[in-house]
Amino acid sequence: MTTKQLLDVAIIGGGPAGLNAALVLGRARKHVIVIDEGRPRNAVTHATHGFLTRDGISPGDFRQIAREEISRYPSVSFTQDTAVAITGSDGYFIIKTAQGNSISSKKVLFAVGMKDRPLDIPGLVEVYGKSAFVCPYCDGWELRDQPLVIIAKGADAMHLAPLISGWTSQFTICTNGPDELTEAQREELQRHHVPVFDSPIRFIDASEGIVRQVVLEDGAAIPCRGIFFKPTLVTGSDLPQAMGCSMTEMGAVVVDDFGKTSVPGVYSAGDAASRLHQAVAAASMGALVAAAMNNEMNLEAWRRNE
Ligand SMILES: Cc1cc2nc3c(=O)[nH]c(=O)nc-3n(C[C@H](O)[C@H](O)[C@H](O)COP(=O)(O)OP(=O)(O)OC[C@H]3O[C@@H](n4cnc5c(N)ncnc54)[C@H](O)[C@@H]3O)c2cc1C
Repeated sequence: MTTKQLLDVAIIGGGPAGLNAALVLGRARKHVIVIDEGRPRNAVTHATHGFLTRDGISPGDFRQIAREEISRYPSVSFTQDTAVAITGSDGYFIIKTAQGNSISSKKVLFAVGMKDRPLDIPGLVEVYGKSAFVCPYCDGWELRDQPLVIIAKGADAMHLAPLISGWTSQFTICTNGPDELTEAQREELQRHHVPVFDSPIRFIDASEGIVRQVVLEDGAAIPCRGIFFKPTLVTGSDLPQAMGCSMTEMGAVVVDDFGKTSVPGVYSAGDAASRLHQAVAAASMGALVAAAMNNEMNLEAWRRNE
């Protein structure tokens, strides 16, 4: 799809953040396109939890219902494609896509999410999203009172231990190799009866995606029913950085309270621009940023006396 018309907003990414932004902008009568390549980070899961009125919905069903609702607003269109380059500046951006299309818009919203770096523990990919997860708010309830393994080092381990203790008292920390846990931290974990294993993990033993035990290089095997681990993340797309948007050390787009990036006319919402990685938070941020973009565009038109 190559647009002849100058659209108001090109939303790059059609997850909860981009879709909620599209809904708000469509209702505000803005001409919007959602460009989505359809590779959300939570594609590995069967269920999205903690989204009021949609608790437990599959990520695919969530997107389909959202698109059906948005289709009531005719100024919003969708294309399944990948944005690969963006030129121009505030008021006139040109987005080139992998399928060779060219889309022009006054503003750009990056709702590109985050991506996991490949997981380097044998067997982890097979259980990820089925019995190994990254967020206890998303999947802790389903694993309550079960024996769990936390794979994390140092400060991440010390953050996850008290957090996970809210869901189960039976958990073990595997640092997967030498760790920088201090003696005081180890004593704290010991006081709470949390075993710590420092040996590298040889593999994760599982059946049909359900973990049975974590097997270590030193021969130990830790039986468990689930895993929480700290993933390594990168921004869902290189485009914000390529456009000159300031980024955090964690790889997120730096935004102000209304989703404005350091590049005029360019906004970001959802996981890509937040530390709280949850669908409802991404959708909420998408709505807020869409309202900010709409205000800015209305004000610009008002001042031009359009
Ligand atoms: C295993 C797992 C389980 C989870 N479980 C839950 C849960 O139970 N409850 C919950 O609230 N949250 C859960 N989450 C977190 C939740 O999935 C995210 O917070 C949410 O999807 C973020 O929404 P988003 O719109 O910011 O990004 P995403 O949903 O990741 O959507 C981003 C979209 O942008 C697209 N994209 C990226 N770059 C481009 C480009 N250049 N051109 C076109 N499209 C592009 C991607 O393909 C993707 O479709 C889970 C996450 C994981 C990894």
